[in-house]
Amino acid sequence: MTRDAGLPAAVPAAAAGSRSGKKAKTVLGESREIQLAIDLIRLGARLQLLETETQLSRDRLLKLYKELLGVSPPKGMLPFSTDWFLTWQPNIHASLFAGIHRQLMQHAGLDSVDALVKGYRLYLEQLPPEPGAEPVLSLTRAWTLVRFLNSSMLETARCRQCGGEFIVQPQRRQRFVCGLCRVPSRAGKTRKVLDARAGSTQPD
Ligand SMILES: [Zn+2]
Repeated sequence: MTRDAGLPAAVPAAAAGSRSGKKAKTVLGESREIQLAIDLIRLGARLQLLETETQLSRDRLLKLYKELLGVSPPKGMLPFSTDWFLTWQPNIHASLFAGIHRQLMQHAGLDSVDALVKGYRLYLEQLPPEPGAEPVLSLTRAWTLVRFLNSSMLETARCRQCGGEFIVQPQRRQRFVCGLCRVPSRAGKTRKVLDARAGSTQPD
């Protein structure tokens, strides 16, 4: 998790699906932008995400953020690299979210940012965080993931054992086996959970 901490912003500039270019000139259009920003802030969006995905000015976004959460948003660029999405537990969470997001885009006719909001809520329902803990996949990471996929910095591959779609590095689709079918030994505690769910009776 600390691997990507010191890296410069690795978020690709290609913002496929972003709303830049569409101006919210009408009152209704602006109220939709504000509601979108509220939804995104409540789900944990960072400022860079808000600036990219809404037409509201930085000043208005800062004000809205502070009104809603009582604090200013954290400063600085997003430090995420693709590495995080390829580690074991994050990969499972990210893959689930990516599948939901793609379904919403393809079959519900949502644009990318609406699919982000609805898809992220569905992800939280499917894999809710432990009480008092943060979700494994934050909204901002989910958004970054969509950008990485759109810019082909990450791809999805079908596991040849379970048939599920998982996030992989580019060019790694051949003979892919996912982290649930081949659980690494270091997955430790979570592996016990999986074994328990699978009905394993082996003692520790
Ligand atoms: Zn699998």
